[in-house]
Amino acid sequence: MLQDKTLKCKDCGIEFVFTVREQEFYKEKGFDNEPNRCPDCRRANKLRRQENSNTYHR
Ligand SMILES: [Zn+2]
Repeated sequence: MLQDKTLKCKDCGIEFVFTVREQEFYKEKGFDNEPNRCPDCRRANKLRRQENSNTYHR
């Protein structure tokens, strides 16, 4: 059985919960690794990437 896991963000160092729901989502997507970052940092990273690609295409 899957259980919620507490992981530590490698960017900001806070602990965050990797929920069963997210674990199932990861499995569904075929990711066998766990997230290294908390949701906030993941979102920030994604935004940064989008900004970068926007500038890149201009
Ligand atoms: Zn973080």
